[in-house]
Amino acid sequence: MWGGKTEALVSRLVRARIQEIPTLAFNAVSNTRFGTRDIRAHSGAGFPAVPVGKGADILKTVREERPKVVGIDEFFMIEGAFGAVRTMNDLGIKVVVSTLDMDSEGKVWESVGELLGIAEEVVKCPAVCAVCKADAYFTFRRAEAPAERVQRVLVGAGDYYEPRCARCFREGQEAKRAASGEGSLFGSGSA
Ligand SMILES: [Zn+2]
Repeated sequence: MWGGKTEALVSRLVRARIQEIPTLAFNAVSNTRFGTRDIRAHSGAGFPAVPVGKGADILKTVREERPKVVGIDEFFMIEGAFGAVRTMNDLGIKVVVSTLDMDSEGKVWESVGELLGIAEEVVKCPAVCAVCKADAYFTFRRAEAPAERVQRVLVGAGDYYEPRCARCFREGQEAKRAASGEGSLFGSGSA
């Protein structure tokens, strides 16, 4: 989200295509921000993608098309994607994944934790903190997000989320807690 991760994924897929390696890309069907037919980076660079809801959908297409390289955007949004990655590994397919690693409470997505365990290479692409412009590794849910949009997998609710550095994330979480009368996680800090 707002980082260079989609850019990094697209550039690897484009490179594979230039090398004439059969390449296929998938996008989460629920990732509606830029439409689901393409993986599209903020710079405008893109790669055609098949929208999928589940890991099984990925494997079905892979068995038909027999790619050697597969890209997956917004991995964390696709149910069963980890199992699909493992199967593709067994088939000798190189898989390149782009994903958020934590939800807006700072909890690591379980499927992403598993993925990290088997990954041969991991590149962190921090976004820019919406408050102080430092490198941002957290996704902050703004206080004004309506209750019905507060769900773990954000769908088409990008406006209610912003990247934050660790310090600004913690301060924002504290402010939300204080506003809701839940008290502080970190003791009586500066108010
Ligand atoms: Zn910050």
